[in-house]
Amino acid sequence: MNHSERAHASLSASGASRWLACPPSVRLSEQYEETTSVFAKEGTFMHELSELYLSYELKKMTKAQLNKKLRQMKQNEFYSPEIEQAVKTYVDVVTEKMNEARASSKDPLILIEERVDFSPYVPDGFGTGDVILIYGDRLEVIDLKGGKGVKVSAVENPQMRLYALGALNIFGLLYDTQKILMTIVQPRLDNISTDEMQVDDLLVWAEEVVKPKAELAFKGEGDFIAGDHCRFCKVKATCRARAEENLKLACMDFQKPPLLTDDEVTEVLTSIDQLMSWAKDVQEYAFAMALSQKFKLYSV
Ligand code: SF4
Repeated sequence: MNHSERAHASLSASGASRWLACPPSVRLSEQYEETTSVFAKEGTFMHELSELYLSYELKKMTKAQLNKKLRQMKQNEFYSPEIEQAVKTYVDVVTEKMNEARASSKDPLILIEERVDFSPYVPDGFGTGDVILIYGDRLEVIDLKGGKGVKVSAVENPQMRLYALGALNIFGLLYDTQKILMTIVQPRLDNISTDEMQVDDLLVWAEEVVKPKAELAFKGEGDFIAGDHCRFCKVKATCRARAEENLKLACMDFQKPPLLTDDEVTEVLTSIDQLMSWAKDVQEYAFAMALSQKFKLYSV
């Protein structure tokens, strides 16, 4: 699979934490073009390298074919021994899980880079699961996170749940799946986490939480709610709701006396990351606009 050409749904699994919290962000973001960052390209390369190793593990290619492809990939601008080691760590985790699946079931289903379809719950909802294992009464989705900035956890992670839902939607009738396992491997931060839930609970979440929010998001309705999820939003620099929320934080209604109490200092501290993140986004946006001569008031 050419990972850079992976199709993206407007209500994507990777954006679910944002559109579940702030449904109208989806349509508001459409006025901005799709862009990609160097980090996203690096992540794409890591997925391609991992797919190569896993294809070899699954005997879809010979050692000679693997080595030939590896020689080509080592010419890529994103290749480094550190990246290769991180990918190998991920591949080791997946291989161990594949072996567990084989040991506990005669005919496990092992899928790499499989398209999943969660459109019964999210309009046009689809995505690509890095690894899906179905064996016995279990369905497990495994996701590689290549970043080394923010730790990502599988616990209550809507992206992982949507992948599981999409896999269940396609393969659920063929297997007697009762339990869902969701694992994120983020090797560059030494971060592996797994969440699990019963199929029935996943379906309740899909019906009661996902479906209504997805319908609002698809129609461009619902309330703008600012929060941590804004950092993944394309309109994060100019969004009025986010600005108002942060200006509210900045203008906290402190009570007298003239010195802040410990509680008030704590209140400032809990807001400071969000405030700084917003201010930085606005500043970067203004610089970019000034450089492109579109924003006359803020000259550099
Ligand atoms: S910046 Fe935040 S509040 Fe504004 S649209 Fe995006 S997610 Fe919603």
